[in-house]
Amino acid sequence: MAGWDLKSGSITEYSLSEDRIWLLFNFVFSDSSRKRNTYKFGLIKSLLDSIFNGQKNEQGVYFSYEQLFARFAENYWNLIVKYDLRQMRRDGKSELSKVEIILKTVISKNKTLSLLGFEAIDDDTKKEVIKNVTAECRKCVVGALYDDFNGAIYAFNLKESGLMLNYCIYDFILKYKSELEKLNYYAWARFLEQVNDDNALVRVIDKLELATPRREDLSIYREILRREFEEDTCFYCGKKLHNKMHVDHFIPWSFVKDDKIWNFVLSCPTCNVKKNNRVPARDYLLKIEDRNRKIQLIDNIVIHKDFKSYSDDLLQRMWQYAKMSGIKEYSKCNGNL
Ligand SMILES: [Zn+2]
Repeated sequence: MAGWDLKSGSITEYSLSEDRIWLLFNFVFSDSSRKRNTYKFGLIKSLLDSIFNGQKNEQGVYFSYEQLFARFAENYWNLIVKYDLRQMRRDGKSELSKVEIILKTVISKNKTLSLLGFEAIDDDTKKEVIKNVTAECRKCVVGALYDDFNGAIYAFNLKESGLMLNYCIYDFILKYKSELEKLNYYAWARFLEQVNDDNALVRVIDKLELATPRREDLSIYREILRREFEEDTCFYCGKKLHNKMHVDHFIPWSFVKDDKIWNFVLSCPTCNVKKNNRVPARDYLLKIEDRNRKIQLIDNIVIHKDFKSYSDDLLQRMWQYAKMSGIKEYSKCNGNL
C-alpha cells in the first residue's frame, strides 16, 4: 500500500540513534523520496514551527491535526496567494494540487482577499480554509510522511484528532531545529525550481522563510503581563515602564516562530532594542523560569491554554539550542535580577 493511502500506523522504532534519524530526514529531503507536490516539506515545516507546542505524555508528544494544518494553511496561503508559487509537478491529470485549488477557489469568490495576509482574512473564511486544508492533508500527507520515515516518526490514526510524535524524534527536532529548517527550505526550493517560472523564484528561500508571518499585535499578552504580574517594570533593567513598553520574545522569535505567554516579558524600549535577536544571559533564564512557575497558577484562559505545552525544562532547552543554532547571548545586566 502506498504511504499516502495509509489510514493508521504505529511507531516501528522507539529508540533511534542521531545518525539513524539524520539518515531518515536526509532520505525525505532527497529526490529518492517521491513527491508529486510539496506537502511533505509543508508538514515538516509545520512540525518544526509547532515543536514547542506539543503536549508530552507517556506515549510521545501530541500534536492535533488542526494545530499542524492551520500552520500549513497559513504558510501555503502566503506561498500561493502572496508569492504565486506553484506547489505541484504538472502531470497528465492536473495542474494544481488540491491545496492550491482550495485557496484559489476562495480568492476567486472574493478578489480582495488576495491582497491580505492569512492573519488579516475574516474568521469564517479562515476557518473554512483550515477545515478544507486539514481534510486534504490528513488524507494525503500524514501517511506519506510516516511511510518515508519507515514508521519511526509518529503514530497516527486518521480517525483520531492528531498524531503522536516519537519522543526520540521530538528531542532530535528540538536540538537540530534550525539545521532541519535550512535543509527543508533547500529541498523545498529545489522542488519549486522545477515547477515554477523564473519570475516567481526570485528570492525563493526568503519567501519560504517569510511564509510564517510574524504576529504584529501582541497587546493581549501585554495586558495580561501588565495586569497580572509585571507591575509595570522592565524585565531586564527593572525601570518603571510608564506607557512605553515592548512585549519581548525572551527566546527570539526567529528561533521559536511562535507566540506563547511563557516566552514573553515586558521590556523598556531601550532593553528591547539592545537585546534585539539575542538570547538573554543565564541569570535571566532563571528569572523567567521563576516568573513562569508563578504565572501559570493564575486563572486566565490564555495562560491556561499556552501553558498546556510548557514543562519545567522547556525554556532551558530552547535557550541552549537557540545558542547552539548560532544566536548570540545578550549579557548586559543592570543588576535587577
Ligand atoms: Zn529595560
